Amino acid sequence: MKYHSTRDTNNTVTAAQAIVKGLAPDGGLYVPEYFPLISMETIDKLCRMDYHRISEYIMDLFLDGPLSQELDNMAKRAYGLNFDHKDIAPVHFTDEGICILELWHGPTSAFKDMALQMLPHLLTNSIKECGESREVCILVATSGDTGKAALEGFKDVSGTRIIVFYPKNGVSDVQKLQMTTQEGGNVLVCGVDGNFDDTQAGVKAIFADTDFAEKLSERGYVLSSANSINWGRLLPQIAYYFSAYCDYVNFGGLKLGETVNICVPTGNFGNILAAWYAKILGLPIAKLICASNENNVLTDFIATGTYDRNRPFYITTSPSMDILVSSNLERLLYAVSKDPDEVSGYMLQLAQTGKYTVSDKLKNEIITQFAGGWCGQDHAAEVIAELYYEKGYLMDPHTAVGYKVLKDYRMKSGDRTPTILCSTASPFKFCEDVLRAIDVHPNYSGVGLISLLSEKTGIQPPKPLAHLGEKTVRFSDVRAKGEMCDVVEEFLR
Ligand SMILES: *Cc1c(COP(=O)(O)O)cnc(C)c1O
Repeated sequence: MKYHSTRDTNNTVTAAQAIVKGLAPDGGLYVPEYFPLISMETIDKLCRMDYHRISEYIMDLFLDGPLSQELDNMAKRAYGLNFDHKDIAPVHFTDEGICILELWHGPTSAFKDMALQMLPHLLTNSIKECGESREVCILVATSGDTGKAALEGFKDVSGTRIIVFYPKNGVSDVQKLQMTTQEGGNVLVCGVDGNFDDTQAGVKAIFADTDFAEKLSERGYVLSSANSINWGRLLPQIAYYFSAYCDYVNFGGLKLGETVNICVPTGNFGNILAAWYAKILGLPIAKLICASNENNVLTDFIATGTYDRNRPFYITTSPSMDILVSSNLERLLYAVSKDPDEVSGYMLQLAQTGKYTVSDKLKNEIITQFAGGWCGQDHAAEVIAELYYEKGYLMDPHTAVGYKVLKDYRMKSGDRTPTILCSTASPFKFCEDVLRAIDVHPNYSGVGLISLLSEKTGIQPPKPLAHLGEKTVRFSDVRAKGEMCDVVEEFLR
């Protein structure tokens, strides 16, 4: 399979090149040249496979050469005992025709693990295939979940190193401790005296510094990112929609071939785009329901065809959805328009004015396939309480946003299609807000809240979170934002 940019279809690259480069030279995102169709007969076969085999089947459609040959190995290592559930992405059925797809059974208890347990294997094999002999150093600026998931994915992966910068006061206590206690011989975690924007700007400046790149190259290192726009992060995510559909069929809640809706708590538009790709591949999906929090740029876009990031930025209890520019939307615009010039035009307007309006043709197509909605944090908290007290099911604030938007959509549209709802984080990752939602108000904060939430609900926390308090802090350094480059240089001596 060949890939090209969303902004230029003339220059093609291999899967390995797309994964190594991340972003196309013209600033566009890499997309596959075509999507093969998976027959219902094949979906029936997938329904008798383990998760890692489903993942292997789906991913193999888009890979070739050495990457394809290594896939069995990669999938086994990415989706094995590193997950705390044998189904990897298990489902929970409610009595309302909702199938909650739990994407947080990986080592860091958030959905990023689904992709970041696979990406290091894809990347190291791609690097080899591209003839790169330098050691790769992954640089990440994180506002929470991504940093830890990338650390767990890349720890002790030979031929790689990873440095994660986090804003000193911009991550939760649990998230910070998850990172500062990170194990592995090839990892470095460093706090930055600044906010997330400062941290991200620092990392971007390092990537843009060609002299610095030259210097590192002489020492045998090349920098790379584990960004959510990388094809190697998107591709592994398509598999769990097939796996969830099969679980729904195997459970008896659906007949093979019957359509489902999919509802996704959305930030950068990666997860829901993977669902849309699953639909293009032949999974019987009707509507894709895109759930946002107060940062509801996407809700407005789906309703009006105008994307406008010129608006206040809200910090909410679902921080991984606090995003005003959803990068992966560019891939949807390309897939629907098939016109790289049209996409380039919108992206130029976005860069220059912070907004663009798509053509009527594009808008109509998007409205047919997607429904959008948003939910404020107070309503999300009510939903957490309602589900917990009425059904004994505890969900995190991101998932709660999705659940509320789904209920509102059903009410408004009358559409009662069985729906797969993505649950993107363990409630134990957001103890403080979850406890408050179920009306528990402790007078302390920090990791002690994990045991408190467990005590109050009788639900076991994921093991890595339960033992977080006992782990040794390995990385306590906090540096000025002007020193980030020095941190990298010292680590790559
Ligand atoms: C990253 C993340 C999201 C958003 O996913 P996108 O692919 O960026 O849309 C939602 N919830 C949680 C918990 C996340 O970590």
